[in-house]
Amino acid sequence: MKKIAILTSGGDAPGMNAAIRAAVRCGIDLGMEVYGIDRGYEGLLDGDIKPMGWHSVGDILQRGGTMLRTARSSRFMEGRWVEHGAKILNTFGIEGLIVIGGDGSFRGGLELSKLGIPVMGVPGTIDNDLAYTEYTIGFDTAVNTVLGLISNIRDTSSSHERTTIIEVMGRHCGDLALHAGLAGGADVILVPEVSIDTNEICRRVLEGQQSGKVHSLIVMAEGADFEPEELAKTLEEMTGREARTVVPGYIQRGGSPTLADRRLASLTAAKAVNLLYNDSESKAIGVEAGKIVALDLDKALDITSEFDTNLYELANVLGKGK
Ligand code: ATP
Repeated sequence: MKKIAILTSGGDAPGMNAAIRAAVRCGIDLGMEVYGIDRGYEGLLDGDIKPMGWHSVGDILQRGGTMLRTARSSRFMEGRWVEHGAKILNTFGIEGLIVIGGDGSFRGGLELSKLGIPVMGVPGTIDNDLAYTEYTIGFDTAVNTVLGLISNIRDTSSSHERTTIIEVMGRHCGDLALHAGLAGGADVILVPEVSIDTNEICRRVLEGQQSGKVHSLIVMAEGADFEPEELAKTLEEMTGREARTVVPGYIQRGGSPTLADRRLASLTAAKAVNLLYNDSESKAIGVEAGKIVALDLDKALDITSEFDTNLYELANVLGKGK
């Protein structure tokens, strides 16, 4: 294979730039022509495709976001537009595509691959919601960002003897809340995968309070079945302690990628380029037992998420009041 293209799609994630850089430079190093597609599938449909040189990806390694920009494309959800996208790739003579994004982006890639275009999925999403891989690019940075926020909140929360509820990203996947909650010492972690009632949350907070905790911290995934302000009100009534909510929102998406994300991005993108160079069929690149692996794209998308209940239970024990 001689000509390949790269796009980023769905929500941006820190480390996407590191993946673009690795894909461009590994491709050029192998003697391939590498193209960048602007604004994900939207840009593909508009033919926003440009050649990428070695230096076009200079000075982006340390930046969050994506230099190729990203989009959600409702047009691309329709078969006729996928066909249009495949035609555009053919017109440019592009023989293979690297898609950096989450589950939805991979599904779009799978549709393209059915039309004869080999697609390599590089997992880029802060949600860590691609079940076939242990980690996705951007997750480690986002967890560390949330941890920094938790540390700041702890200072004020303990000074005022408050309960604070922090709502973090994760519509369907509680990984960000779980990992940040464990590492940040949350009393209670609320995730979409585990159901828990308000009385139990109040009981745990009260238990902590009675055992001498000067403040309480609840880390909640946005997909958990609670409304933070309502929960804060109930907690105040039931525990007699002031409760506040913090919703950091998009702050969690930005920032310079961590070592782990830059490393994962570089390794997975390099693997994607090598597979295309060797005329492989469509694959999803990921991590299994710490090693970089490539699974058939369709099979990877069929794998369903398993929530880490051991880690969740450990976090609950460590956050208890005794
Ligand atoms: P994140 O996890 O950050 O939300 P994502 O890749 O899952 O990232 P989505 O918005 O779900 O984000 O998908 C990105 C884009 O992929 C969609 O806007 C759409 O253009 C395309 N896409 C998603 N599902 C399909 C599908 N079944 N067929 C074709 N295209 C799809």
